[in-house]
Formats: sequence, structure tokens, C-alpha cells
Amino acid sequence: MTIGILGGGQLGYMLALAGYPLGLRFRFLDPSPEAPVGRIAQRVTADFDDLAALEKFAAGLELVTYEFENVPVDAAKFLAERVPVYPPPAALEAAQDRLNEKRLFQKLGIATTEFVSVPKTSALDPAVKELGLPAVLKTCRLGYDGKGQWLLRTSEDVTKAKSELPAVPLILERFVPFTRELSVIAVRSRAGEIAFYPLVENHHRGGILRLSLAPAPRLDPGTQRAAEHAARRVLESLDYVGVLAIEFFECQGRLLANEMAPRVHNSGHWTIEGAITSQFENHLRAVQGLPLGSTGPTGHSAMLNLIGEIPESAEILAVPDAHLHLYGKSPRPGRKLGHVTLRAASPERLALRLSELPAFFHRPEFCLDAALAPSASLRS
Ligand code: AMP
Repeated sequence: MTIGILGGGQLGYMLALAGYPLGLRFRFLDPSPEAPVGRIAQRVTADFDDLAALEKFAAGLELVTYEFENVPVDAAKFLAERVPVYPPPAALEAAQDRLNEKRLFQKLGIATTEFVSVPKTSALDPAVKELGLPAVLKTCRLGYDGKGQWLLRTSEDVTKAKSELPAVPLILERFVPFTRELSVIAVRSRAGEIAFYPLVENHHRGGILRLSLAPAPRLDPGTQRAAEHAARRVLESLDYVGVLAIEFFECQGRLLANEMAPRVHNSGHWTIEGAITSQFENHLRAVQGLPLGSTGPTGHSAMLNLIGEIPESAEILAVPDAHLHLYGKSPRPGRKLGHVTLRAASPERLALRLSELPAFFHRPEFCLDAALAPSASLRS
């Protein structure tokens, strides 16, 4: 059975690695001839809107899924006329536009921060008046890893932003003084079976995910239930099939949904070693209508992203139960090149393992302080 995947980056790479033991084959479509999956699978190099290439790509495929949420919705719809496409193109449509996404959350009774549509630059001043400062201005489309965002604290920031704004629709959000950022990875199969991984605590620098701790430390069962309730509403309302990630701000004990990704997610990479069934395997089970695997954690995990540069493998692998994943991409500043997952039996043991990582990881951008605190007693 051959599964087609739109997008050939590291998420597709890890999907294929999870699919080979299940007897699956893969065909990828990506505009870049350098897409990492080329090392391990059949790759078609073409633009997503090249209909002739899509037609050829779809021939003989069992189904199509995607690892990249900015696949044009029309391409997904074109393919859906030829072969089953999961998650449904409607999920892409909802997730590609921050305003649609927030309105969907609102319609489903899922709390978000307050927001106002800013269709053009002249609408910014009234929007700021309505929400107040501080606020975060974001492009509705194509923003990721903190790109296309302006933090507005003062009226000077607003004036400066106005001089830089692209002529595209924007959304202004009230700034959330969150205590932490959490995400839930949920999965729904073609048969309607639903499962959730434990909430993950995420730490970003410069808008890019640096560290995930799973399960999130000091996780309150009520918070987990609230996240699952929100994810279930989204999954069921979209008749969703596959893995879905929702990112939340935790603020005064409440969860506010920030955004969702209709695909496997960086904050779920820990599941490869840290859960009984990885997010990648469960996505493939879901889209084929197979029974889902257990989402239970096998311990306490920390996932660290390798951004822009890669340290010596030997130094990482010298740490017990450290697992290295390199995506085969050439180094470039700000680029996700790989990740490391550490797993341990308790948060204290995990902190000890993290403290043993080479000096490379003890720079502030890795946010290790967030994870090292519980180990104070063990290390003293
Ligand atoms: P996003 O692209 O929406 O995930 O935003 C990137 C990062 O910016 C988030 O992970 C937060 O750390 C921060 N951020 C985004 N929106 C807000 C907000 N409304 N209030 C406070 N921080 C935000």
C-alpha cells in the first residue's frame, strides 16, 4: 500500500520511518529538490498547484495526507476528487487563516484571547482602541515560528508597525500574560476512535519551539480534561481524521486556545521514544482506519530542538537514554535540523539527565532552567 504525502520535510521523514514497520510505502510531493524525504522515499519535485503533477502523483495511491499545513486548499480538494485525503481539506482551510481558526474555536465554545480583525492598515488604530495594549498583531496567513508578528506595547510600537505592515489581512490579539504554553496532540481515526496524549509544556525563544516537557510538569487532571474537551470538539466538528495539535496558553488556571495544526506536530516528537505509540504511527493508523495505539507515556521526556547548528553526536549519545534525530538538512540559521529526546523514570531523573547534556545545550535559548528546577534536591 502506498500513501501519498504532501510536503517532504522532517515531519514527512518521521512519518515514513514510522510507516515502514507497518508495511507501508510512501510517495512525497514537495517543491524543493532538497526535501529531506528524498533520502528514504520516492519524491516528486513539483509545485503544489501543478495540477498535471498532482494527477500523476495521485495515480495508484491508497490515500493522501500532508505534513505541511500551507498546502493550497485547492490542491487538497483536487486530490480528494481522485483519492481519499486526510485530514479533510476543510481542516486545512480552518487552520491556514488565524481569523478562521479563532472563529472556529469561538463557535465551538473554546476560549481564546480576545481578537479583532484588521483587514487593512487603516483598521489598526480602531482595533488597538478596542483591545488596548499590549497586543499582538499577526498576519492571518503564512505566519509560523514567530514570523509575521508584531508585539505592540506602546503607541510608538503601533506607529512603527504601521510603517512595516504588508498589505495582507491581519488579526490583532490581546496579549496573554500566560503562566506557560501547553499543547495537546489528539488523534481521530477513520472509524471515529479518538485518543489524546498527555499535555506538553512548551518553551519558545524568538517564536521557535526550543524545549518540550512531556507530560507537562505539575499537570492538573482538570486542565488535561479541558484540553481534551476542546480537541474533541474540533475533531468531531470537522469530521477530522489524523493527528491534530492544539496550542494553548495557560493563564490563571484557564486554557486559552492559540492555534491548531492539522498534522503531526513538533511538540509531539517526544512520543517516538516517550509514548507507547508515537504520534507518527498513530497518524498512519488513523488515516488507514486501523485501531489506534496507546498514547500512554513511557516515562518523563524532554525534547530539545536543534536549530541552526548541530553539536557532536557522540557528546549527546553519551547521556543515558538520549536519542538523536537528524533530518538531513543543511545548516542555516533558524532552521530546524534535528531534535534530541531524553527520557527518564521521574522528573528528577530527567532533570539529572538534562544537566548531563554537553555545554552546547546549557545556553539560555534551550530553556533548560525550566526543566532543571525539580532536580535541585537530587543534585545537591
Ligand atoms: P504563534 O505563531 O501564534 O504560535 O505565536 C508564537 C509565539 O508568540 C507563541 O508561542 C507565544 O509565545 C507568543 N504569542 C503569540 N500570541 C500571543 C498572545 N496573544 N499573547 C502573548 N503571547 C503570544
